[in-house]
Amino acid sequence: MYKPNSDSQLNTEGWKDINWRKVERYVFKLQKRIYAASRCGNVKLVRKLQKTLMRSWSNRVLSVRRVTQENQGKKTAGVDGVKSLSPEARLKLVRELKLTGKSKPTRRVWIPKPGTDEKRPLGIPTMYDRALQAVVKATLEPEWEAFFEPNSYGFRPGRSCHDAVNQVKKAIMQKAKYVLDADIAKCFDRINHEKLLQKLNTKGKVRQQIKAWLKSGVVDQGSFTATSEGTPQGGVISPLLANIALHGMEERIKQEFPRMSHSGRETWYHKKGEEFPTPDVIRYADDFVIFHQNKTVVQRCRDIISNWLSDIGLQLKPEKTRLSHSLNPELSDDGIAGFDFLGHHIQQYPTGKYRCTRDSKGRILGFNTLITPSKKASKVHLEEIGRIIKKHRSSPQSALIKDLNPVIRGWTSYYSNSDAQTVGELSRQDYLTYLKLRRWAKRRCKNAKKASSKYWTTIGNNNWVFATKEGKANPLRLLTHSEFGSSSTEYVKVKGDKSPFDGDLVYWSSRVGTHPELSSRKAKLLKQQKGKCTKCGLSFQNWDVLEVDHIIPKALGGRDEWKNLQLLHRHCHDEKTAIDLIEIRKKQHSKNLEQLAQQWDKNEWEWVDDVPVILGRKNGSENPSSKQTGEQFKLDFTEVWKKGIKGETLTEEEEKLFRVLLN
Ligand SMILES: [Zn+2]
Repeated sequence: MYKPNSDSQLNTEGWKDINWRKVERYVFKLQKRIYAASRCGNVKLVRKLQKTLMRSWSNRVLSVRRVTQENQGKKTAGVDGVKSLSPEARLKLVRELKLTGKSKPTRRVWIPKPGTDEKRPLGIPTMYDRALQAVVKATLEPEWEAFFEPNSYGFRPGRSCHDAVNQVKKAIMQKAKYVLDADIAKCFDRINHEKLLQKLNTKGKVRQQIKAWLKSGVVDQGSFTATSEGTPQGGVISPLLANIALHGMEERIKQEFPRMSHSGRETWYHKKGEEFPTPDVIRYADDFVIFHQNKTVVQRCRDIISNWLSDIGLQLKPEKTRLSHSLNPELSDDGIAGFDFLGHHIQQYPTGKYRCTRDSKGRILGFNTLITPSKKASKVHLEEIGRIIKKHRSSPQSALIKDLNPVIRGWTSYYSNSDAQTVGELSRQDYLTYLKLRRWAKRRCKNAKKASSKYWTTIGNNNWVFATKEGKANPLRLLTHSEFGSSSTEYVKVKGDKSPFDGDLVYWSSRVGTHPELSSRKAKLLKQQKGKCTKCGLSFQNWDVLEVDHIIPKALGGRDEWKNLQLLHRHCHDEKTAIDLIEIRKKQHSKNLEQLAQQWDKNEWEWVDDVPVILGRKNGSENPSSKQTGEQFKLDFTEVWKKGIKGETLTEEEEKLFRVLLN
């Protein structure tokens, strides 16, 4: 069998010299072998390969990159106060990472629950623990991916909420069914640690380490929320551990209610001469639904799952567990048809004789299945829009538009494979947003007519667009919900038993481009680049963070046009930005920049997290004159630079400074 080379020769001097391509290939190759060995049931080989991967420098360095550069929580400090790391500090961390069987306590952060005044705790482990968790996760994930159940979708590589919702649609499309819609109460606070460790079936240091994490509360329940961000924010390894703890639920139901054909034996739930399908179980982390056309079967499933859960110390949340019918409200326990799942509302509606859908055999079904944003999700979204508009009571229109656009784009793309368009939910959101904007404008002008002519304008065929008047050629325009409309029939769900670790590159690379939350700009670039990052040359993986980059930076005269755009990994983008910055600093266009460069040179500075940070004044330099410390230098240069280069929304003042930097 092929054995990967030792990766010690990859160990280079500095962070910038690391050959990421080789590092990623080495780790992925080992992961594929772990997956293959696990599929064959060769536990001995799995453990041996995991040991190699656990010790490899490549895995450690990649894990440090994941938690310091890619993860959204990179700016959140742990209990040791460490947050952003300089390249040197990152390398130091790589050298220190080792399984010790101990864990530092977590820092508790209280974050608001959307739509309520309640707050929920989120445990933030230290940077060290986070990196070490990523190391362990990289070795455990391929082993478990090999036998995770086909209808578990939460926090697994290559799978998303959209796959789960699509599977729900498939389960009930042909037949109206009873639904058990349930939540598991406080997963990680209650979980039986011994049982979980037993299930993990590991020995020695790994077992000790995971035990320590469980005990210290590093793994946190707070991370399981299916939001449009979709990324867990707390512990790195907790979603995987939750999936392992809840693994077997689908199998348990299949065991109790196996599929039966016409001639199958007669039981209380199966009549001879009829077919009996196994109930469908669809799970996303700790949130799951079960379907069947027989109410008693679904009720029985609830009892079975309750029992099964109590074995690992868990129970169903009674207030969030509901038995309903997908079509007929009278058959639901609470008289309401349909149910909510992952922010979607799924319900069936009776149709007339003429506008009807048919099943696979061409028979008239008499109902339509519609997936729409749940009432709660719509309300939360509208509240967020309201909050942004309120925040910008006295800011210029452009700042308001810049803040609203990503929120509108994010929300609508989360629902891009639902029927939100069909039922008019998108135009409803547009109308309600308009009402809020009208109030915002009226308040500023004191005159409705004047307000509408000042803030609304005609663009193309549309004569009611909320857009800026400055820059006639390229006005800044508010996006609408309706322009992102699509339907639930277009989405292609992930195949049940597929995993990125199976090495089927053709299958997985074709999926990257079809992700519903990928913007059309990114999708187009992805196609152009044949699915590869132009900087490192690696194919994009499903879990990579992609960013659009200007090949020639705007600061150096590059334009915002197709041939000047490329799609890069976030970490590749960070590197390129650092290089661009040097070029930009070389170019001295205006007096302003010269002045700035002078200011810059008077200071001590160093690279921190790929941006230059001013540490303090150099010894011997005279105090800056009052003119030099004028308005534009008061702001933190670095913060503005970081935000600007990432295309985040800037306040007017920040934007002025950023322009100075760019010219
Ligand atoms: Zn790359």
